[in-house]
Amino acid sequence: MSEVVERLRDVVEGPVFAPADEGFAAEVAGFNLAARHTPEVAVGITSEADAVAVVRTAADSGTPLRVLATGHGSARSIDGGVLVTTSRMSKVTVDGRIAHIEAGCRWAEVVAAAAEHGLAPITGASDAVGCIGYTLGGGLGPLSRTYGISSDWARGFRVVTGTGEVVTANADENADLFWALRGGKGGLGLVTSMDFELVELSTLYGGSLFFGADDIESVLTTWLEWTRTVPETVNSSVAILRLPPLDAIPEPLQGKTTLTVRYAFVGDPAEGERLFQPIRDAGTAVLGGIGEMPASDIALIHNDPRDPLPAWDRAVLLNEVDADFAGTFLDVAGPDRQLPLIAVEIRHLGGAMHRDVPEGSAVGGRGAAYSLAIIGVPDPNLFAEVLPTAVDGVLGPLAGWISAEMTVNFAGSFSVPGVYEACWPAETFARLGDVRATYDPDKLFPFGPA
Ligand SMILES: Cc1cc2nc3c(=O)[nH]c(=O)nc-3n(C[C@H](O)[C@H](O)[C@H](O)COP(=O)(O)OP(=O)(O)OC[C@H]3O[C@@H](n4cnc5c(N)ncnc54)[C@H](O)[C@@H]3O)c2cc1C
Repeated sequence: MSEVVERLRDVVEGPVFAPADEGFAAEVAGFNLAARHTPEVAVGITSEADAVAVVRTAADSGTPLRVLATGHGSARSIDGGVLVTTSRMSKVTVDGRIAHIEAGCRWAEVVAAAAEHGLAPITGASDAVGCIGYTLGGGLGPLSRTYGISSDWARGFRVVTGTGEVVTANADENADLFWALRGGKGGLGLVTSMDFELVELSTLYGGSLFFGADDIESVLTTWLEWTRTVPETVNSSVAILRLPPLDAIPEPLQGKTTLTVRYAFVGDPAEGERLFQPIRDAGTAVLGGIGEMPASDIALIHNDPRDPLPAWDRAVLLNEVDADFAGTFLDVAGPDRQLPLIAVEIRHLGGAMHRDVPEGSAVGGRGAAYSLAIIGVPDPNLFAEVLPTAVDGVLGPLAGWISAEMTVNFAGSFSVPGVYEACWPAETFARLGDVRATYDPDKLFPFGPA
């Protein structure tokens, strides 16, 4: 391997870290502290030329290559091979309605650049997540019912393929690769940049409210019924949070079980207020606020953690739910249960998400009505047994509502048997295999269950 390290030092302008080098640990660290990456070498690319050089060097030596942007992705530790880090490529430029986004950008950078022009990208809940990794998986965000899956707004990618060629993938060039990059996630090459269409959006009517344990049943039941009536301009989710008694948490929520409702309405604020009224009336909020807000504050709606922590989660998609769902859900995850789970979140899906782009894309899970994501207490001692057992206890009784579909961004490390295959319809799964074989014939970019 040292030969590969030496060669990389010759051909790459960015830093090359062997495990004994100072800076290696920081270079391979990501958002999820439970993942301990031990590649044979880490390479911080600074340009497309660096990307080509590292891919060709890895290909020549038959060494697998993986990509780390922010580390918000898989919790699985990367062992061996070349690890490419992209954080030094973080330039974003806005030209008309298109943002040109380099490989290492986070959504926060794109949101800020777009806002200067009264525009916004269709992002996920957290703006600390990397734009490329997120979009390659499709991307379900707080505006998806109105604007669709995030990758529907991707207009082109620059990619270094498994054979070291640089290609443009868009609707006209390498259209099969473009189809795969919008939802196919991995095994397709090293993306160096993405062109992403922005929408004209400077304000939203939205925010989040927190309700005490006594109101959870009423608000949750009302919310579930309400989601069956609202138009596509209404985006929302709920989460039962079991919060620790920490000073960092606002006083009314410290050590409490609470229900948060997140709301994002696109259109006339008065209409947004009117539509949200049934949820306000279903309980007494103890914290939070819903009102007109800059679209660039979108990440405040979910307020996901930004600092690295040990993270463990599991998610499924749900079909339409019926009147029995709320009762069963409260039985297994409601405030009366003692569970080692920080958050049990249901997002309302559907609307524009159900419609694929005219030219088609590899996004899976479009047909689902809701997502259900469960986040465990951030204690790695619980990750192997306690959390999986607790989550099985929640999901088991809900089995009748769980969709056979999945979306790859919520599939974690594919550690649950069958979840990898469930991320795409069978025909899409097979076609993705063909595209991967074309652009990465020697499987330089490992992807899939371990
Ligand atoms: C707090 C939090 C909130 C989230 N919210 C949402 C959400 O609202 N909606 C949603 O859909 N998902 C969400 N996710 C999931 C997230 O979108 C995925 O985990 C995504 O893969 C993260 O991408 P990343 O680049 O930030 O992470 P990384 O762990 O750095 O990368 C993940 C994977 O992306 C691929 N990748 C990244 N960059 C490149 C590149 N340049 N070329 C080729 N492949 C690349 C690689 O396969 C890599 O393993 C969330 C995750 C977290 C932890």
